[in-house]
Amino acid sequence: MPSNPAVDSSKPLIIVGGGPAGSAAAITARLAGQPVLLVEKTRFPRQKVCGEFLSPEAQPLLARMGVFFPEAAAIRRVSLHLRRAEKRFSLAEPALGISRYAMDHRMLERAVALGTLVQPETDLPAAIVATGRRASQPKGQRLFGFKAHFAGPANDAVELYFFGGGYVGVNPVEGGRTNVCGLLPESLLSPLGFEIDAAVDQFQPLRERLAPLSRVFDWLKVGPLVFGPQTATSTARRAGDALQFVDPFTGSGMLAAIETGVLAAEAPEAEYLKRVRAILTQPYYVASLMRSALSATWVDRLLPLVPGKLMYQLTRPKKIR
Ligand SMILES: Cc1cc2nc3c(=O)[nH]c(=O)nc-3n(C[C@H](O)[C@H](O)[C@H](O)COP(=O)(O)OP(=O)(O)OC[C@H]3O[C@@H](n4cnc5c(N)ncnc54)[C@H](O)[C@@H]3O)c2cc1C
Repeated sequence: MPSNPAVDSSKPLIIVGGGPAGSAAAITARLAGQPVLLVEKTRFPRQKVCGEFLSPEAQPLLARMGVFFPEAAAIRRVSLHLRRAEKRFSLAEPALGISRYAMDHRMLERAVALGTLVQPETDLPAAIVATGRRASQPKGQRLFGFKAHFAGPANDAVELYFFGGGYVGVNPVEGGRTNVCGLLPESLLSPLGFEIDAAVDQFQPLRERLAPLSRVFDWLKVGPLVFGPQTATSTARRAGDALQFVDPFTGSGMLAAIETGVLAAEAPEAEYLKRVRAILTQPYYVASLMRSALSATWVDRLLPLVPGKLMYQLTRPKKIR
């Protein structure tokens, strides 16, 4: 692999995976004049299980890439709901509620408009692997994710309901819809036959929140979900979830994917992992501590004492520029 793929214009940069990380890498490389072959196995647009909360820090980076989401819903407030405690705070800048159907398609379209060649497979070795998370976990302890969009009254908050060893997030997306996305352990889902309607009914505050809404498509499900670093299978640079999958309650996975995609395309070889560690180590560590605390019984007493904005800030990946 060249020492800085963005400036080697003699051969195409091969990127595998066209989600936020892969598209961000492709756009960055094309803007630097590098030929790019992007390998994406699915046809876009497509739905994807995700909370669809795009952290505000992603917007300046996306604007520099020429990617905009004018139709997105503005998310201005956060509320956390535990068994016996609640926490509410405002975001300093609005986040975007944008479906992965729209977002991933828009980013890939931008990469193509800049001259990226897209194909479903290749025999050539990848320089950048952005294929998302891979996971395996012993049966019985596994977490599964799910999402559906709902019609009905929408607001400007991301609401997280923690229960049963997992959580469910509710936030607006474009078109006046509300996205309901969560992850729950199979110990809760299995006795319910993996019926998500029955699972979200288990927590009264969530049941009341969803009562005025009606689901507009079937629940999409994914899993098992395993957090933490992924194992490298080649010497290629890994970006996004292929590098590390963080517990998604922070709503920072797409921001991290975009940032590491940009870095993968532009950082010199010797600096890539160092720069990735500099932006992700602290927020990922704080996120895993916070997630363990949120499942503990004593957190109901502690939560009111911790400033919400500080919790939010500590789980954001650092800016890359
Ligand atoms: C339940 C849940 C809720 C979440 N909520 C949020 C949220 O609200 N906000 C947030 O910021 N993040 C959230 N995340 C995290 C976010 O979805 C990920 O961090 C983000 O999708 C990572 O982007 P990526 O480009 O690395 O991977 P992906 O988005 O997974 O993209 C990988 C792409 O690679 C393609 N691919 C895979 N293998 C191959 C192959 N062999 N050949 C060709 N193509 C391949 C796939 O088709 C896919 O398009 C959530 C995740 C989950 C599971």
